[in-house]
Amino acid sequence: PPITVRALAEKLNQKAFKIIADLMDLGVFANVNQTMDPDCARAICAKYGYRFELEKRERHAQVPAAPPRKKAELDPTDRPEDLRPRPPVVTVMGHVDHGKTTLLDAIRKSNVAAKEVGGITQHIGAYTISFPHPERKGELAQITFLDTPGHAAFSAMRARGANVTDIVVLVVAADDGVMPQTIEALNHARAAGVPIIVAINKMDHPAANPLKVRQQLQEQGLIPDDWGGDTIFVELSALTKKGVDKLLEMILLQADLLELKANPNRPAVGNIIESGISPGGPTVTALVRKGTLRVGDALLCGPYYGKVRALINEDGERLKEAGPSVAVKVLGLNGVPEPGSEFTVVEDERKAREIAEQRQEALRTRAAETRAKVTLENLFQVLDAQQAKVLKVVVKADTQGSVEAIVDALKKIDSEKVKLEIIHSAVGTITESDILLASASNAVVIGFHTRVDTGAQELAKREGVQIKLYSIIYELIDQVREAMAGLLEPIT
Ligand code: GDP
Repeated sequence: PPITVRALAEKLNQKAFKIIADLMDLGVFANVNQTMDPDCARAICAKYGYRFELEKRERHAQVPAAPPRKKAELDPTDRPEDLRPRPPVVTVMGHVDHGKTTLLDAIRKSNVAAKEVGGITQHIGAYTISFPHPERKGELAQITFLDTPGHAAFSAMRARGANVTDIVVLVVAADDGVMPQTIEALNHARAAGVPIIVAINKMDHPAANPLKVRQQLQEQGLIPDDWGGDTIFVELSALTKKGVDKLLEMILLQADLLELKANPNRPAVGNIIESGISPGGPTVTALVRKGTLRVGDALLCGPYYGKVRALINEDGERLKEAGPSVAVKVLGLNGVPEPGSEFTVVEDERKAREIAEQRQEALRTRAAETRAKVTLENLFQVLDAQQAKVLKVVVKADTQGSVEAIVDALKKIDSEKVKLEIIHSAVGTITESDILLASASNAVVIGFHTRVDTGAQELAKREGVQIKLYSIIYELIDQVREAMAGLLEPIT
């Protein structure tokens, strides 16, 4: 039988608030009387060392904030027959100046539903376009775009457990080709397991060379579909808008393959895309993942709650409701939740308030604790609690030569116990983007003859991401090899 938060807390001899906080780390919001699934219970037991015959574990031996984050997708209350197709949610990524913003603007203008009169579009972090479906006559197709382009925002959301993007559009300028941030974006999308559509932009440019872009991306493992691979490539110009409709068509095609569905007839669940404070109080942009959000709903979001006073779209229009994959500005919360936070609609405001207060208390209890992430030293304790034994690393080094040498050497390490996966490698300093990627994927960052950006150092501390710096290559390799053999002594 499922175990309640209260019962588990008693068994583990912990305060219930502590367990609630642990569940929040796992992306699950519960109150003391609610039950949890066995995966969560197992992860929490492991955290307190109860998986291994009641042996108390040290802090560094804690389980990281690992998956069951897909929770919402597995919600047992949604019966298959209640699911309806929902629009895809798309993030645009790519190297700086390759045309992400121009493309997002061009797409926004292809929205047939947009009112021309007096329509001052506001930036709310996402917008949904509607247009005649290219294949299904008489039907409107819809796509939601997150309009904070770039992989940093994407991974920041993911680091907080919000995998809201269904499809990534990777923009590459045809005159410039694949650049460092193109590869970075690619690796962020890959680490998230999100399918990629390549938009070769600036086809109007005299120096456009789409063939070269295809070759360069093929080297990165993105094989164009017209070359026998399975990545869709679209050539376009965001400036002249030629090819933009083709891109939209391809997004719909990819979405069909993904069979995106949600139950619209249930209380809404989703994530916060942006949050801030306006003269009228806190405002957030909520992206509904499933269910329908309505004016008057009792909303619960992290430690905050409130009654939905107004729903406003990016054209400034007031809506009565917003269904799956739709983003709306919401007024009525009593605080400003972090972007990425999950929101849910509950029975009534009293209930929302009660749970929000429990969470506030849980957060206070927790303030001093940081989340345990993988480090080279605690690798085995952490991995023990997980199914797949994979050490993920991000490699940064001073020159392309050393990057290649390190990647080669790391790939040669033989370990029966753990698989090594290099989720990103590049020349340069260790940036905030590296930390966000590592945090979202629970990876360790390895630097060789390089330094850590000021902001990145701070962020790594907050996110609990380990950074290991080396100046001697064999030391680096030896340490990783030892970590993978479970030989490193935990740091106390
Ligand atoms: P972002 O940094 O990726 O958001 O790139 P922007 O959208 O700001 O575009 C950078 C520059 O490229 C701007 O000067 C744009 O006008 C230009 N640009 C964007 N798309 C195109 C295009 O399709 N063709 C040409 N020729 N220039 C473009």
